[in-house]
Amino acid sequence: MENSCGWIAQTQSLPARAPLSGTHQADWLVIGAGITGLCAAHSLAQLHPQARIVLLDRQRAAQGASARNSGFVVAHEYPGADELMGRGGFAGYEVDCAISQAATQEVRKRVATHHIDCDFRDSGYYFAVHDRDKLEQVEARLATLHAAGAAAHFVQGEALRHTLGTAHYQAAIWCGNGNALLQPAKYVTGLLQALPANVTLFENSPVTGLEPMAHGAIRANAVNGSVEARQVLVCLNAFIPRVGLDHSASFPMELSASLTRPLTDEEYRQMGTVEPWGVLSTRPLGATVRLTPDRRVMIRNTAEYRTRDLSNRELLQRRRHHVQGLQRRFPWLDEQDIHYSWTGHLSATRSGQPYFAKVRDGLYAVAGCNGAGVARGSLWGRLLAEWASGHTSPLLQSVIQRAQPGWLPPRPLFDLGALLRMRVEAVRARSEI
Ligand SMILES: Cc1cc2nc3c(=O)[nH]c(=O)nc-3n(C[C@H](O)[C@H](O)[C@H](O)COP(=O)(O)OP(=O)(O)OC[C@H]3O[C@@H](n4cnc5c(N)ncnc54)[C@H](O)[C@@H]3O)c2cc1C
Repeated sequence: MENSCGWIAQTQSLPARAPLSGTHQADWLVIGAGITGLCAAHSLAQLHPQARIVLLDRQRAAQGASARNSGFVVAHEYPGADELMGRGGFAGYEVDCAISQAATQEVRKRVATHHIDCDFRDSGYYFAVHDRDKLEQVEARLATLHAAGAAAHFVQGEALRHTLGTAHYQAAIWCGNGNALLQPAKYVTGLLQALPANVTLFENSPVTGLEPMAHGAIRANAVNGSVEARQVLVCLNAFIPRVGLDHSASFPMELSASLTRPLTDEEYRQMGTVEPWGVLSTRPLGATVRLTPDRRVMIRNTAEYRTRDLSNRELLQRRRHHVQGLQRRFPWLDEQDIHYSWTGHLSATRSGQPYFAKVRDGLYAVAGCNGAGVARGSLWGRLLAEWASGHTSPLLQSVIQRAQPGWLPPRPLFDLGALLRMRVEAVRARSEI
């Protein structure tokens, strides 16, 4: 079966740009044309209108995880037990929410400035559970979310069924004020389309390594060419090791998702003619589900640490898992109702915090989106550009201070530990897939 992203398939593609060939000189080089790299390029172009900025991607731009994600614009994560008000982790949670709030504002600003039509919905989303025991300490969680600036309320039973059009979920916390939903491929393609004239993009140009040069510049080597620049921003997320940056303490995760056909008028009527919605699980390996504005259902219920990419045969197995998840919520849906299934890579860290660093003079890098890079990547791109340009702000300082990804044991110890942890989390999320 084909690995085909439903969001990309429904987004008008832009003409391909040439691959890199020969040697190029630039003032600035951005590596990776996802949300982070594109926002970095936009910000650099604004800060340095006369500069020559080059942007490189190993494939077509705007077609990686930035187009393949579930489209949640995250201002408030589900607070963990140690992050509840009064606990040791609350102060950090509050700071993270303030950063994420600023990140969602960055998305709103980009969408408005570039007139990006990406089905942006300022509707909040739900942290919902099938097993009522998976939503504990509701009052403390609501108080924590309120204290961190969210709008939040508890909803359960019939009221929840009426809102979501499925009896699968028993209870939920709706969370708004910053949290939003969008069509990810349309958002990132909009960023690509709006690139200013002083940004030159080369597609299908994988960078294989970075080389310091005698006069202080850095040379990025690609398969058929190279770019020499004084300042380089690495925005590769899960792929950061590919340019030789091995110390980010981040690791890749491969996720898979499916999108159905649009529901028929009759199916939609029987659901109760509900508004589009998004549901996140309270467990790390639980399902993310959306009802889209064009009445399709999207489900993402696999996330794996792997040492090699999923083959198409393996994706077919994951798709059966998607069907099971769909049928728990909408029993009439079957495998033939799935129009698209795809995979994507994100970058995770042990602490949940990013790697956001000045690697050395002229070289800056970010990774470790931890599944919230639609908003955070939009902000990090700008902040990385500002930092490398010598600007500072309380927000930038706050991001730098929180950027402590944690320590990872060396491989193969890490591989074994990660696989074990995934198994445990999969069991814990069994009722929520
Ligand atoms: C299935 C799925 C669901 C997700 N859901 C959500 C969600 O709902 N909300 C949310 O906030 N986040 C979500 N995420 C995470 C989100 O997609 C990422 O955080 C975000 O896309 C990060 O953007 P980025 O630009 O940093 O990285 P990417 O989008 O991964 O961009 C990196 C770019 O680098 C390019 N590249 C790789 N190697 C090289 C090389 N050697 N040379 C040049 N270029 C290279 C890639 O082609 C890619 O275009 C999800 C991710 C997945 C996979």
